[in-house]
Amino acid sequence: MERAAVGKLSEETRCLDRAMGLSWGRNKPARRFLPIVLPWLAAIFYLLTQIHGRALSPKLERFEFCQGHMGTQFRMILYANSAAGAQAAAETAFTRIAQLDLMMSDYLEDSELTAVGRQASGPPIPVCEELFRVLKKSQVMSKRSQGAFDITVGPVVQLWRRARRTAELPDPARLSEAMALTGHRKMHLYEQTRSVRLAQSGMRLDLGGIAKGYAADEAIVLLKKRGITRALVAAGGDIVVAEAPPGTEGWVIGVASLNSQDEPSACHLLLRHSAVSTSGDAEQHVTIGGIRFSHIINPKTGMALTGRRRVTVVARDGITADALATALCVMGSVRGLQLIETTSGAAAQFEEESETGKRTTISRRWSAFPKSCP
Ligand code: ADP
Ligand code: MG
Repeated sequence: MERAAVGKLSEETRCLDRAMGLSWGRNKPARRFLPIVLPWLAAIFYLLTQIHGRALSPKLERFEFCQGHMGTQFRMILYANSAAGAQAAAETAFTRIAQLDLMMSDYLEDSELTAVGRQASGPPIPVCEELFRVLKKSQVMSKRSQGAFDITVGPVVQLWRRARRTAELPDPARLSEAMALTGHRKMHLYEQTRSVRLAQSGMRLDLGGIAKGYAADEAIVLLKKRGITRALVAAGGDIVVAEAPPGTEGWVIGVASLNSQDEPSACHLLLRHSAVSTSGDAEQHVTIGGIRFSHIINPKTGMALTGRRRVTVVARDGITADALATALCVMGSVRGLQLIETTSGAAAQFEEESETGKRTTISRRWSAFPKSCP
């Protein structure tokens, strides 16, 4: 029964072949031609679809926008097929960044973050989804970095900000009072009510080491929603990139030097769908008594970091890269390497300077990235 069915099928197929003038069995010249003709037909078909596709999608042009938020310049480079489309998408993204700034700034008295600090030691305070997400990520990063990344350093950061203005070291008594108000374990998050409680009155949160990376992530999400898939958002040293510029393998990102973010980069990374952050003392520091103090604090001691260092981190998203770069500055290359190697998709380059000279350390994945370095 089954044999008959198969036989019938092949008979019908042969009839069809004959009707089309193609006979596999009997017409030998046609059989010889097909292997030559078919690839050519496929190639012509492919070319026609490409030409048609290009004619349908207008050429993408490069647009660049810049605005100040979160105490730095946010730069956007995007590829769009009209100036109006690019402008509208950039405005939507900048509006979002401004909203996040209003929410997460520790400089603004009426930000949601400041409100959390004001009600410290009281009952849990419900916060918006975005702020909760950043607080949760901060808590994860604190645990993973063994406390090197800690957003509860707010009261200590305040003293060091003053030290940068006055060029005088913080008073040791005030520093130890401020230290008593820090500690990531004193921040409690409640998932079900999306609320946060700070255990002690006087505690203060500081998202300076993580909010810019998150804002750049959010900007990319909004640009994509507007149909812009090839884009870069840079918030100072925190950069997030989407799909590569047209006709390229990736965005060429210079790795900042130990001395300044503005100095020409010796090393370039080629990245897409990725984030890169640099932290160090190149931009913000104060020299007191011949010692250079960074704006990054060691939460264990309350002291601003000394000794030149710069860490560049590549990660899957901006929030991770930003927080990791700050954490790794505190941890140094020896402890920091363990953290980076155990973070999925992340890589880092450390540059540290001491009396014995400059030392560069790279993580395993760093050496695998496409890049051009001397
Ligand atoms: P930048 O803000 O220059 O990009 P970072 O991302 O490294 O640099 O963030 C530094 C800021 O993070 C500081 O100005 C301060 O507000 C905050 N900060 C300082 N030390 C720590 C720390 N150990 N953990 C978390 N945040 C910190
Ligand atoms: Mg950071």
